[in-house]
Amino acid sequence: MAASPFDLRGKTALVTGANTGLGQAIAVALAQAGAGIVAVGRSAMDETQALVGQAGAPFRAVLADLSSIEPVERVVAEASEPGRVDILVNNAGIIRRADAIDFTEADWDAVMDVNLKTTFFLTQALARRMLADGRGGKVINIASLLSFQGGIRIPSYTASKSGLAGLTRLLACEWAAKGINVNAIAPGYFVTNNTEALRSDEARNAAILSRIPAGHWGEPSEIGGAAVFLASPASDYVHGIVLPVDGGWLAR
Ligand code: NAD
Repeated sequence: MAASPFDLRGKTALVTGANTGLGQAIAVALAQAGAGIVAVGRSAMDETQALVGQAGAPFRAVLADLSSIEPVERVVAEASEPGRVDILVNNAGIIRRADAIDFTEADWDAVMDVNLKTTFFLTQALARRMLADGRGGKVINIASLLSFQGGIRIPSYTASKSGLAGLTRLLACEWAAKGINVNAIAPGYFVTNNTEALRSDEARNAAILSRIPAGHWGEPSEIGGAAVFLASPASDYVHGIVLPVDGGWLAR
């Protein structure tokens, strides 16, 4: 029988912010497809470790605060110690909410640092290794519908996620011929910590729900298939896309 084009056995994936939400779900989906997981986060990732273990895949945790680029070289060195990292999922991200007219420099910098600056320099550090041994790899950035749309009350988030879409395209242009696929996933509205404020606001919750053709908020388990696709040989000729996984939101 021919090998599945979605088979990740023998590969290692580094997933940032894998302790909760979409990062955890992506780590589990990649593990179910056969990949070993290096989870990078600020705190213990026991729950993710247990779920990855249930999928029968190896798991390691690397503790790091990605609000600055200070730990980037250490993270890449520790992650690569037992063997090369083949897949990078840049999932860690934060959001700050306030009207644009009141938005502070601190809320601007905090979001841009995690969502865009550290993402770029972590990707650069790992890509140097992927290019050096000539075996390439897969980079998956977790973008947002705010990579396409404006939104309200989240100026630094929209700027960072729109920037991440541009960065995805730039890196794809530079590295596609060198064996690295750089793509992004744009999640729609998912049930995670990130969207707690929206879901607990009755009016916003109803307005959002009414616009989702699928008729429900995304469950984290509904994001994993797209990540497996972009991590696997099935997407070897796919470069620089931002793939919406949004229950049809952008189609409306
Ligand atoms: P979440 O808040 O549950 O997860 C965010 C993750 O990032 C956590 O694991 C957190 O620990 C990690 N993180 C944040 N700051 C960090 C730091 N300084 N150092 C290390 N790790 C840090 O929310 P989520 O929804 O799972 O978010 C995951 C990604 O998906 C984010 O990039 C977010 O912007 C994006 N996203 C989420 C939605 C949604 O509807 N939930 C929609 C679009 C995009």
